[in-house]
Amino acid sequence: MTASLSPAAAAGELTPEQVELQQRARAFVEDVLMPLEEEAERKGGRLPAETLQAVRSAAIDARLQGGRFAPEFGGQGWSMLEWFLVNEQFGRVTNGLHWNVPNAYNVLTQATPEQVDKYLRPILRGEGGDTAYAVTEAEAGSDPSGIATTAERSDGGWLLNGEKWFVTSGDVANVLIVMASVADGGGTLFLVEPDTPGVEVVDDPAYTHNYPHGHPTIAFRNVELPDDAVIGGVGNGDALQRAWFTEERLGIATHGLGAMWRLLEEATAWALHREQGGTRIMDYQGVSFPLADSATDATVGRLLAMQVAHMVDAEADLKIVHAKASMAKLFVSEAAWRCADRAVQIFGGRGYLRSNVAERFLRELRVDRIWEGTSEIQRLIVARALERRGVEATIH
Ligand SMILES: Cc1cc2nc3c(=O)[nH]c(=O)nc-3n(C[C@H](O)[C@H](O)[C@H](O)COP(=O)(O)OP(=O)(O)OC[C@H]3O[C@@H](n4cnc5c(N)ncnc54)[C@H](O)[C@@H]3O)c2cc1C
Repeated sequence: MTASLSPAAAAGELTPEQVELQQRARAFVEDVLMPLEEEAERKGGRLPAETLQAVRSAAIDARLQGGRFAPEFGGQGWSMLEWFLVNEQFGRVTNGLHWNVPNAYNVLTQATPEQVDKYLRPILRGEGGDTAYAVTEAEAGSDPSGIATTAERSDGGWLLNGEKWFVTSGDVANVLIVMASVADGGGTLFLVEPDTPGVEVVDDPAYTHNYPHGHPTIAFRNVELPDDAVIGGVGNGDALQRAWFTEERLGIATHGLGAMWRLLEEATAWALHREQGGTRIMDYQGVSFPLADSATDATVGRLLAMQVAHMVDAEADLKIVHAKASMAKLFVSEAAWRCADRAVQIFGGRGYLRSNVAERFLRELRVDRIWEGTSEIQRLIVARALERRGVEATIH
């Protein structure tokens, strides 16, 4: 199942331990997740509870849970490069099946020991549950400075009011991380348990993809929170979010690279096998050139994303890393969707079947150009870096 040494490993760019990790993640994806794709698609992304528990256990057996969280929290303590190698494998599977590997938003690194015990450790032990991160509102999307959700001081705690949109995993999370404005304090993150009185899912719309979790709209009406519901300190929400965005944006790029890898594998195999007009369709340049363009997109995107991972590990200037992560997200999300579109075309009518990986990726990859900051917002960030940091620092 697992491959011979990849060119990067053969060139000595990866340590033997990193090669082993990459192969372990690859085996998990190919042996455990890929066989579930078509069932997940047929069931609208929602697999039975016993299947999900089996996936969580297999992920823990393969030591893939908790990624960059420190081992004392139940994670693996991976470097960003190691995290990249694993997430690239996760990206090769459709239907968001890798969401079932126990993990949590990295902002929980700022949690107090009590918050870690209550929320993080059980999730990373595979006991179920999840975290959700709620920033976006009806009138505050690309510009989150306009959020209207407020948290006011009350006797011994906080009173939370507002409504959040598109809350990924908000339907299954055991804790919601909610951004709210605090008078004289600014953006602040709160940990909110979904069964707290005043928390209500007011809409749970269907989306283009069939993923394991929904993205509901959640209202908070006079929700009473204890004093220690704040995570990372009052007024630190915006700074924490910036740190989170870097990893999330690199994560989207990394998953997109995995998607391109899979699309190329499947579409190339098909083009080499399928015959029309008495010859393999690979012999038509109308088929082979889009594959060549996709391979070029995948290679360029991979070099860029790996550069960002190396920069994070080398603790490079965060402002440059932030811009580079935006570039990686921008380039790969757009390139991956192009690759999916080309692959659908190469499969012909079969490319329009939901049982075909290219069809699923075409739907699933589209949102990568929207969430965690749209392509336009990534361009604004890169343009700002050119202005403030200079051309050389931005492109080298
Ligand atoms: C499936 C899904 C899951 C999501 N999950 C979450 C989640 O878990 N938590 C969360 O908080 N949010 C989540 N989001 C929200 C997502 O981050 C926002 O949809 C995204 O940031 C865009 O905001 P918006 O939808 O309000 O669009 P808008 O901000 O209204 O943008 C509309 C259009 O205008 C463009 N635009 C806006 N401002 C500018 C500008 N300054 N310059 C150029 N163009 C501009 C945009 O690029 C876009 O094309 C999710 C969204 C989806 C679809």
